[in-house]
Amino acid sequence: MASQNGSILSMRNLHKIYETQDQPLLALRDITLDVRSGEFVTFVGPSGCGKSTLLNIIGGLLDRTSGDIWFKGQEQREPRREIGMMFQTAVLFDWRTVVDNVLLPVEILGMDREAYRSRALQLLDLTGLKGFEAAYPRQLSGGMQQRVSLSRVLVYDPEVLLLDEPFGALDEFTREAMNLELLHIWDTTKKTVVFVTHNINEAVFLSDRVVVMTPRPGQIAKVLDVKLPRPRTREAMKLPLFAEKVFEVRELLGVAH
Ligand code: ADP
Ligand code: MG
Repeated sequence: MASQNGSILSMRNLHKIYETQDQPLLALRDITLDVRSGEFVTFVGPSGCGKSTLLNIIGGLLDRTSGDIWFKGQEQREPRREIGMMFQTAVLFDWRTVVDNVLLPVEILGMDREAYRSRALQLLDLTGLKGFEAAYPRQLSGGMQQRVSLSRVLVYDPEVLLLDEPFGALDEFTREAMNLELLHIWDTTKKTVVFVTHNINEAVFLSDRVVVMTPRPGQIAKVLDVKLPRPRTREAMKLPLFAEKVFEVRELLGVAH
């Protein structure tokens, strides 16, 4: 059985149809993929190809129309503690300080707030927010707000991170810095990451495997291995292999170049 092959996540023939007012909309078609524990996998595809739909299904926030998903051999249909999600916009609460925003999942999960406080502070330090613990979201730039959001998904230590275009709203420089930070965290914590983006460079730079999707209905066009050395630094972008993979993804996506 698919669930017994040692993968942390197994997706089999996932389909998603949205029932809309006029006609049913096929958003995902036949998505089959296994994700290994500790792997960094990125889905890349054009806007509207079903990336968020897929991530929400994996996270248990949305039901599929047919097909199966297993998390460590258990059927996956509900949000669970072991799987954390981060979205494109930070969704922070204005009236909570930075550290209180980070501690939100701890409260929701009914865990001991005080016990996790030092971890929250550590993560804010790790994500470059030392000194801003008591600030409010409105006092932070977009990049800083995403750092808070990243700290928040890390605070309760989920094994799997589902990241939906987490740095999509950031400028190129901040995005690059966040990517490096994310890789550092991933290297040190050995989490499994399922990342979604429409940025081809970002997909190749971060990932062990890039899953290229077709336009709607989203199907898997191809899965590419990216065997760039780890830990990755900016230097990786100068390697011929980086350029080759970026080119290959562009070809598959039909991007003019
Ligand atoms: P992506 O994240 O790749 O941009 P989405 O998963 O958000 O794509 O959307 C895939 C397709 O499904 C789009 O055509 C979108 O309009 C449609 N869609 C998304 N959510 C809903 C919904 N709740 N009801 C109907 N259609 C939806
Ligand atoms: Mg989306």
